Amino acid sequence: MTESDSVRAAFDRARTRLGLVHFLRRTASGAELYAVGSCSDLDNAWTVVVDAAGYRCSCPAGAHARSACWHRAAVHVKRANARARQEALGRTAGLLVEPPVPTPVNRLAELRAIYA
Ligand SMILES: [Zn+2]
Repeated sequence: MTESDSVRAAFDRARTRLGLVHFLRRTASGAELYAVGSCSDLDNAWTVVVDAAGYRCSCPAGAHARSACWHRAAVHVKRANARARQEALGRTAGLLVEPPVPTPVNRLAELRAIYA
């Protein structure tokens, strides 16, 4: 199994398990902490940290840098869904406005006007 195969498999497993992802809190340094329930032990959960370094998981698979675990994939999907929801709500409320189409600037004409 290649690295991309294992990542694809992790996202496949995560797809039906998003309900096990729970946002815990944002730290003072801006990292986000999530608890992701374990499927093999219902009394256990793993911690996924999201920060500038990426996604880290406390599960045995996540401890190995090259292993893809579905916990990190699930948090990634959950965050993407939350962002899309916020953007949709912002558009509905009129808070997000499409950026204006920039007017082409005729730099040569500007320079001629300045140095004429
Ligand atoms: Zn994990």
